[in-house]
Amino acid sequence: MRILVSNDDGIYAEGIWILARQLSEIAEVIIVAPDREQSAVGTAVSLRKPLRAQKILPLYPGIQAYLVEGTPSDSVIVGLGKIITEKVDLVVSGINQGSNLGEDVLISGTVGAALAGYLRGFPALAVSCDKDRWDEDYLKETARFTALLIQRLARAGLSSNLFLNVNLPDLPVDAIKGVRITSLAHRSHVNTVEEGHDGKRAYYMLVRESVNIPVNKKTDIGACSQGHISITPMHLFLNDRIPVVFLEEISSGLFEEFISGRR
Ligand code: MN
Repeated sequence: MRILVSNDDGIYAEGIWILARQLSEIAEVIIVAPDREQSAVGTAVSLRKPLRAQKILPLYPGIQAYLVEGTPSDSVIVGLGKIITEKVDLVVSGINQGSNLGEDVLISGTVGAALAGYLRGFPALAVSCDKDRWDEDYLKETARFTALLIQRLARAGLSSNLFLNVNLPDLPVDAIKGVRITSLAHRSHVNTVEEGHDGKRAYYMLVRESVNIPVNKKTDIGACSQGHISITPMHLFLNDRIPVVFLEEISSGLFEEFISGRR
């Protein structure tokens, strides 16, 4: 098995190396990751801009590592498209410092990197743990869990429609209750705007806050808040089926009106 490992905390982040070292016990691991921290860039890709990549000295021996002067998605796309010439079996993004739950997945660079792999037809997995649990031992345990999950997935056969978002709850490992397969929570975050002044100019500051939503144990937020590890299977189906009939009524005759109004 060959695994591309990326992240959005940057190639020198502790989380990516602890994950890569653990995964190197079950697979060949190649790190391709952004040269700096880029949380919250989501699925951004750099078009019409040169992307420079460079092999770096690994923090642990036996792991090849390349930095890319671009976004997490750029790193995965360049990694899969050019840097790694052999067959890649899986893309893993993480371990992110901070959870990526509910609508956070829409802005998460960690999930964005996994998505870049998934969009190119590779099984992909994003892994995050709560920032309050951030220490080396906890990361090692998170990495060990990830490796176990990957081994089970690999035994069952990794399929290209696999896209998972994994989050560990804010608990010591001994206190975690189990694993739940979940869906993404809705209306979980809100962006508010604060005003500030730097002494010269006024500015706005976006603040992303989580919203207290009723705990639904089937969601990722529900699982983590109740002490479980959350595994959310995802895909790209963003269409909403509910308003279709309404919109079909609204748009009946719309094109005819548009055409008959031409001058
Ligand atoms: Mn991050």
